[in-house]
Amino acid sequence: MEKNNKAVVVFSGGQDSTTCLFWAMKHFDEVEAVTFHYNQRHAEEVEVAKEITNDLGIKHEILDMSLLSQLTPNALTRNDIEVKEGEDGALPSTFVPGRNLLFLSFAAVMAKQVNAKHVITGVCETDFSGYPDCRDVFIKSLNVTLNLSMDEQFVLHTPLMWLDKKETWALADELGAFDFVREKTLTCYNGVRGDGCGECPACKLRKNGLDQYLAEQKGAQRS
Ligand SMILES: [Zn+2]
Repeated sequence: MEKNNKAVVVFSGGQDSTTCLFWAMKHFDEVEAVTFHYNQRHAEEVEVAKEITNDLGIKHEILDMSLLSQLTPNALTRNDIEVKEGEDGALPSTFVPGRNLLFLSFAAVMAKQVNAKHVITGVCETDFSGYPDCRDVFIKSLNVTLNLSMDEQFVLHTPLMWLDKKETWALADELGAFDFVREKTLTCYNGVRGDGCGECPACKLRKNGLDQYLAEQKGAQRS
């Protein structure tokens, strides 16, 4: 039997999923990317995703998931709601209920179509901001469900699951992608590429990790 070494990466054009894309390129012979368009605050994300996959010569599919904004009026899908961090354990206003459940299910359907066995997502429990569908236990449960539903042997990979932002930068560096990720990706809720606006929660989280990683690098050079 031929070894199936093809992977589909759930790809948003952000730091995390771009790092996952490089990770996938290292570990699999063939990689495709899928981006979900759901009337994000910034259709800019989709543009960035297109450019990055183009740069890397990766086949890229964009799937329309705009029905999500019909179901869930929140800060990522609607322009009239401000991005706020969750207070007192409440979920942040960027939460889209069921997003990863839906995205990973569609990614698996696509994987079946293109004959890929592996699906990669950048979800992470360490900085998970309370999103229940970023948790490891959810991914493991969904993996079983997807395999049962399609009678397949998919493997869901989560290379960032236990990494914090600093360690995600370290991984990008290890993959030879540090500058690429720093300059070309879009994490900022205000749609500013690279180091971003510096003010929104996503930028603060990203910068925090980057500063920590750079400080550690400096320390390592000195000793
Ligand atoms: Zn920002």
